[in-house]
Amino acid sequence: MSTNIVKVAGVDISTDHFIGGKRVASANRFADISPVDGSHLADVSAGGKVEANAAVEAARNAFPAWAALGPKGRLPILKKFAEGILARASELAAVETMDNGSLVAGNLHRVIPRAAHNIDFFAEWALTLEGHSIDSPEVVNHIKYDPSGVAVLITPWNAPFMLTTWKVGPALAAGNTVVIKPPEWAPLTCSLMADIAKAAGVPDGVLNVVQGIGEEAGDALVNHHDVDRISFTGSTDTAKIIGQAAARSITPMSAELGGKSPFIICADADLDAAAQTVAAQYMNAGQVCLAGTRIMVEKKIEEQFLEKVRDASAHMVVGDPREKDTRVGPLIHKDHFERVAGFVERAKADGAVPLWGGGRSNFGDLYFEPTLFADVNPSLEISQREVFGPVLTWQSFRNDDEVVSLANNTKYGLAGTLFSRSEKRAMDIASQVTAGTLWVNCFFVRDLAVPFGGAKDSGMGREGGSWSFDFYSDIKNISVRKGSFA
Ligand code: NAD
Repeated sequence: MSTNIVKVAGVDISTDHFIGGKRVASANRFADISPVDGSHLADVSAGGKVEANAAVEAARNAFPAWAALGPKGRLPILKKFAEGILARASELAAVETMDNGSLVAGNLHRVIPRAAHNIDFFAEWALTLEGHSIDSPEVVNHIKYDPSGVAVLITPWNAPFMLTTWKVGPALAAGNTVVIKPPEWAPLTCSLMADIAKAAGVPDGVLNVVQGIGEEAGDALVNHHDVDRISFTGSTDTAKIIGQAAARSITPMSAELGGKSPFIICADADLDAAAQTVAAQYMNAGQVCLAGTRIMVEKKIEEQFLEKVRDASAHMVVGDPREKDTRVGPLIHKDHFERVAGFVERAKADGAVPLWGGGRSNFGDLYFEPTLFADVNPSLEISQREVFGPVLTWQSFRNDDEVVSLANNTKYGLAGTLFSRSEKRAMDIASQVTAGTLWVNCFFVRDLAVPFGGAKDSGMGREGGSWSFDFYSDIKNISVRKGSFA
């Protein structure tokens, strides 16, 4: 056992890999710095080919026995895993906040419970996969969901624990074994996940964690010859690189990527609810893939609505994410801060004018003010590219054709939000917007049973409900001639 343990928010955390049920250290380490206060949290093992090989081998060796358990055999272990997450919710929430700057209250009340649900929901859903058959005139088709083997799961820093369980849940429930590559800017809660899985009785080798830099540890995993699935959440640019590795070995890959989602407010909407929801796009400093960052307001209510958004945004307090009144915490890293600030400066140089915000907050180095650019030309970079910070753009529209065309005018297609009291109008517009998810008079509601993913540059494939099992299984039809058995 390695002795590389750090204490963060009062919690002991191993900074090493978790391979075949054991902690494994690398001589190379990378620094993990808290965005909350700049404190040095840990020096974490930086894996490469050696660790990737060991983890894939451990996962391969563990696969037959885990697959043979079947969904019923796996259910009690995965239920215990989910319970273990809930039992440590306050620790996980506090560590995640220190590691990535997300709001502790949101982590405790929504994100971590959701992560636990990601595990038990899919464990139960897997039971429904057994015994599915389709009757044909001459044969009965028995549809089997065979586990695919070893799945590599790569996740980003904005919600590492929750997003990793969103993959771990269905992958393990379907009978696969997994190798997780956590994000290097927030690697700690995925290390705790390994401890929780082990304590719950997840057999050694079923869940492995290789820490490290994307271009090293991640690259070694996605290029490994013995991997059966790659599930990736992160940026579109990284997906293009990983996709080339997946293509070389014809390894099925799912990709949940960035967004630049439209947020449409029709004149007949509940404007107070819509304004509150617009302001909520600043939560977690806008580091939310699904955020509706392009605000589109029907011209005739524009001025009135702007005042409501201004009032609602005034409550988006920038500050320490551990404080209960804080709504906007830090950006994750100084490189990311520079990236966000770069977008804002170039937008100003392009002639866009911030109605509020537009720079560093007085609160601290990595804290950025909630920012709104008004009357933005839709062709500007600030209207087209994902900023991943607390930066919104504002456009107005006169009719539905115009707003549909504005909404579809980026390379992304992750999500969209629309407020209107007219069902017909809402459904007409929503049907024409290219996106994986459209929310009408609500935001961020995600039932685990529904499909989730992105269109265009926002992703490839769908996960959630049965779609997750379509991805993490080799689906087989055993076609049996009727009356052919003695
Ligand atoms: P990123 O693409 O830089 O990194 C994501 C992960 O990929 C990290 O673990 C990183 O180490 C790894 N990685 C990087 N290069 C790699 C390589 N060559 N091979 C293998 N792995 C590699 O993304 P990020 O900055 O961590 O996250 C922000 C992005 O994630 C945003 O675009 C955001 O919209 C997106 N995101 C999407 C969703 C979704 O569900 N669609 C959810 C959250 C975040």
